[in-house]
Amino acid sequence: MTRKTLEVLAVASEIYPLVKTGGLADVVGALPAALGRQGVAVTTLVPGYPAVLAALEKSQTVLVIPDLFGGPATVLRGAAAGLDLLVLSASHLYERPGNPYLGPDGRDWPDNAIRFAALAAIAASIGRGAIRSYRPAVLHAHDWQSGLTAAYLAYGGPQPPASVMTVHNLAFQGQFPASLLPRLGLPDNAFRFDGIEHHGMIGYLKAGLQLSTHVTTVSPTYADEIRTEQGGMGLDGLLRYRGDAVSGILNGIDTEVWNPASDTLITARYDVSTLKEKPANKTALQARLGLTIGPDAPLFGIISRLSWQKGLDLLPAALPRLIAGGGQLALLGAGEAELEAAFRKLADEHKSKVSCTIGYDETLAHQIQAGSDFLMVPSRFEPCGLTQLCALRYGTVPMVSKVGGLADTVADGHTGIVFDAVNEAGLAAALDRAIALHHTPRAFKALVRQGMAQDVSWDAPAKAYANLYRALAGHAPQ
Ligand code: ADP
Repeated sequence: MTRKTLEVLAVASEIYPLVKTGGLADVVGALPAALGRQGVAVTTLVPGYPAVLAALEKSQTVLVIPDLFGGPATVLRGAAAGLDLLVLSASHLYERPGNPYLGPDGRDWPDNAIRFAALAAIAASIGRGAIRSYRPAVLHAHDWQSGLTAAYLAYGGPQPPASVMTVHNLAFQGQFPASLLPRLGLPDNAFRFDGIEHHGMIGYLKAGLQLSTHVTTVSPTYADEIRTEQGGMGLDGLLRYRGDAVSGILNGIDTEVWNPASDTLITARYDVSTLKEKPANKTALQARLGLTIGPDAPLFGIISRLSWQKGLDLLPAALPRLIAGGGQLALLGAGEAELEAAFRKLADEHKSKVSCTIGYDETLAHQIQAGSDFLMVPSRFEPCGLTQLCALRYGTVPMVSKVGGLADTVADGHTGIVFDAVNEAGLAAALDRAIALHHTPRAFKALVRQGMAQDVSWDAPAKAYANLYRALAGHAPQ
């Protein structure tokens, strides 16, 4: 039976491997290939940042916009890194090097509200047929930067195409002053509690949650948490109101990019049947980071944004426990200046036992995944989390807090260590358990093997997205 191809337009502000600041890019970059195997053709609309324009191949102009918020713009259709892209090229909005959201002073660009309103406005007009011969059945917006897509659809005329809004992190909501409204090109009556208004401001994510046909988030447990007052960050009432139109679909990881059997960034390749090769990666990592070389010290890896969400401010107090247990720490992260300074200091104080690399480094991330015994993720909240999925694939035991997607993907005592209380005592107790486990090689290896057997690919999530799209577009599920 041949399957009918369903056309989906994804809208996102970052996409791996072209522009990435976090898990959002990983998801947006990996889903199209996985969905392709489900008979869904995904084209992704992204801003024309310099890195995107430089990578774009075989591009042709498919739309010309003489004035998009103060300057000319074009939409280019092309491909990069195997992805089908529509690129919104508008030099006055996007041709700025480096981080997609921050200027050279490390602060948000002052015109971010306009930069991402433009992205959403163009997405909606494409959804309504602005490009001849391209009519997506579903628009899929990711995070607040694309949140106004549903608003431009809803207020742009009758019978808009179906839309999905995916929340990758409810903490980032895109709130802007109400005075912006006249510039957005939305009607005045959009500024209502059941439109784009949010606590007297314009809420980009709120608009998406309110006006999209369906809302997803990246794990079932996070979908429950954000409907509670404790986890809802002011949006729980709306999310409860949306009822069955809110659901959780777990993220996967790109199992080609994250494959210990073929990973050229690590010292020794291995799979579950050649686990004896894995320790060479630990030795290489210890050597690279200036840690004492040897197989016995339980080595804890951390790869993370450094922010309150991630719970890493608890680590300094727990570190003596780790060191007393003979452990080592390999941290890679960037973020809040205070945390960066605290970790630099710890590394200075405990040379040969603690290494903290401040910055963003894909290669080192792979080497930490392959070389560590445990991967620590003590998040206070975690929509899904990707690093624990990579750890499972690399036979590195995840040690995680019982929140969001971490709770959904790590089984305590079976594939990892899961702890309840995200505080100093909770983290210290989890460290004790991990160190004891490492001293019991049979039990430790069982967790490693069970973790490596877990399916962390996009196969099942892509099926769930495909079924959702088909339901929204009125197609029968496959
Ligand atoms: P979040 O999106 O909240 O930052 P996730 O766990 O969902 O967290 O995704 C983080 C992604 O970014 C993972 O692919 C992880 O490997 C990567 N990452 C985070 N920090 C760094 C870093 N300093 N260097 C390299 N990769 C990093």
